[in-house]
Amino acid sequence: AMRHLPYFCRGEVVKGFGRGSKELGIPTANFSEEVVESFPSDISTGIYYGWACVGNGDVHKMVLSVGWNPFYKNIKKSVETHIIHTFKEDFYGEILSIVIIGYIRPEKNFDSLEALISAIQEDIEEAKRQLDLPEHLKLKEDNFFHLPEGKIGNNH
Ligand code: ADP
Ligand code: MG
Repeated sequence: AMRHLPYFCRGEVVKGFGRGSKELGIPTANFSEEVVESFPSDISTGIYYGWACVGNGDVHKMVLSVGWNPFYKNIKKSVETHIIHTFKEDFYGEILSIVIIGYIRPEKNFDSLEALISAIQEDIEEAKRQLDLPEHLKLKEDNFFHLPEGKIGNNH
């Protein structure tokens, strides 16, 4: 899971498949199929934490899910970012820049909506704690977020 991290990625926010994330209070900004295809094919599904920025906006903490995309009969992955920030408006069509830093847990099935929501709340708390560590805070200031045309430096 960790071999590819930190992983820098930038792309357009597209409409998801309406799993009702927003109704749960946890909207997830979906990347287009092209962006997902550009991911390392062996990246583990599950929940990650990192930093995210919409357009030229501020950099915020995020949790990210890499999962199987039901729209493609679960043969393709989906990559969805929940930014830990309250936005005034939706940002479909905007460019989302993220750096994925660490892995939290694998995908799970939950018995109830309540169990799912509380697991996500725990993921968010874990992400917040991790991202306050000095070595993770450093990446918030990475040039990647400040130079719109900046090179994506995943070749480490
Ligand atoms: P979809 O199925 O289209 O992805 P969601 O219910 O997951 O719908 O909502 C995602 C959309 O909500 C994002 O594309 C974005 O425009 C908007 N949004 C608002 N606040 C946030 C946030 N904090 N994190 C992620 N997306 C957000
Ligand atoms: Mg979504």
